[in-house]
Amino acid sequence: MAECTDLSISPSETPLVAIALGSNLGEPLRQLRSAVRLLAQTPGIQVLACSPWYRTVPVGPPQPDYWNGCLIARVQLSPWALLATLQAIEAQFGRQRQAHWGARTLDLDLLLYGDRLIATSELTVPHPRLAERPFVLVPLAAIAPHWRHPLLGETIQTLRERVGDVGIIAVFSDDVGETTFATAADRPLPEPHE
Ligand code: ATP
Ligand code: CA
Ligand code: CA
Repeated sequence: MAECTDLSISPSETPLVAIALGSNLGEPLRQLRSAVRLLAQTPGIQVLACSPWYRTVPVGPPQPDYWNGCLIARVQLSPWALLATLQAIEAQFGRQRQAHWGARTLDLDLLLYGDRLIATSELTVPHPRLAERPFVLVPLAAIAPHWRHPLLGETIQTLRERVGDVGIIAVFSDDVGETTFATAADRPLPEPHE
């Protein structure tokens, strides 16, 4: 039996998790790819699928466009150990927390952890703003359309169709390069939050 790196979870339980990645400072695509590589090299994390990268209109104070994507992984880490791993990788890229929703070199959010519901001061899962964000749902639906949101009971594809493509400017894939969406000319402003 494979050795378990986190004894708070038994080796037979290897939940699937969904992680959102975002960046709009430095060299976003390079940082995002490096972050995927670092996650894949972390003991207890097996990356199964990674979405294309999407260029998106920033939400929050004025700042450069974002690049966003999502990945699916199988983990042998507790949710809190996984959050600590995500934050350690953010720190490696010089992430600094200044303005709320301000520009950042790397943001890694835990979107879904199997069908677990977690609500602590440190960690909320599913991510509380998952269902309202095209910049999360569009990449997530590209790799996990049938995953059912454990609180809302609806699939990622249904949630993605509900929010539409607001703020999604372009998609980048290694084969084709960057493709700008026709609707991006409008550069729709994101909905105000809270
Ligand atoms: P948002 O959460 O709206 O995407 P953000 O990513 O800019 O905003 P951060 O400053 O990166 O927010 O994180 C603030 C805090 O959110 C972190 O210190 C972390 O403890 C907490 N947090 C709660 N739930 C999660 C989660 N599911 N994934 C990542 N961080 C979380
Ligand atoms: Ca975030
Ligand atoms: Ca975050």
